[in-house]
Amino acid sequence: MKRCQPLPFISVGSPESTTPKEPGRMGTGRPSAAVPGSNLMPAVFLDRDGTLIEDRGSLRSPAQVVFYPETIAALRRIQQRFRLFIVTNQSCVAAGEVAIQEANEVNDFVVQWLRLKGVTIVAVYCCPHQRSDGCVCIKPNPHFLLHAAQWHGVDLHRSFVVGDHPQDVELARNAGARGIYVLTGHGQKHRSKLDSGEIVVTGIAAAADWLLGKMDASSALDGRSHPKAPLAANAPQLAE
Ligand SMILES: [Mg+2]
Ligand SMILES: [Zn+2]
Repeated sequence: MKRCQPLPFISVGSPESTTPKEPGRMGTGRPSAAVPGSNLMPAVFLDRDGTLIEDRGSLRSPAQVVFYPETIAALRRIQQRFRLFIVTNQSCVAAGEVAIQEANEVNDFVVQWLRLKGVTIVAVYCCPHQRSDGCVCIKPNPHFLLHAAQWHGVDLHRSFVVGDHPQDVELARNAGARGIYVLTGHGQKHRSKLDSGEIVVTGIAAAADWLLGKMDASSALDGRSHPKAPLAANAPQLAE
């Protein structure tokens, strides 16, 4: 088994952020002093490929990044209520197809482009291992979400993972959050592997609709738990 760094690399998306720097390539700092139950923020953990940008296989350069047309507007809306993180598996690094620097450059480009468009990504969490490495950080292990809870005062029980793979939904479950499955990327292909009752939407814009609508509808709740399981009827119905 290869040696696994628990925090292989993390891009901090907002240098002007007051959040202390996390351990990782961007530096070290202290965890958030947030006390459970006080000022904890809900977050949305976004998968990268097939969710925010087109899944075009292993990306080695920012020039290969193609955002979905709806991504920026959707994230602008979501960030009104949630802090945004990206969580991505890039096993292409462990496979030797992409250098870690190249993966970092792609992630940094995504963050910087979004920032130019008014969207703040708090951090990018990227696992560069492959599953056979047995690392702690590969999705659906909840490692990075637990880290965000500790370092950024995220309330995982009011948080979501949005992604196009069943492991994104599983990640949410493993962290005490909720998954939202999108049908972009590999979403259609793997949909049959999803458990019934999961939230399924057409893409990131529909995910934003769902998240904001649910927040509005649940604003009278105590905020400590998720609203009731969404109905499949909430998702745009697709012919199968
Ligand atoms: Mg994906
Ligand atoms: Zn890993």
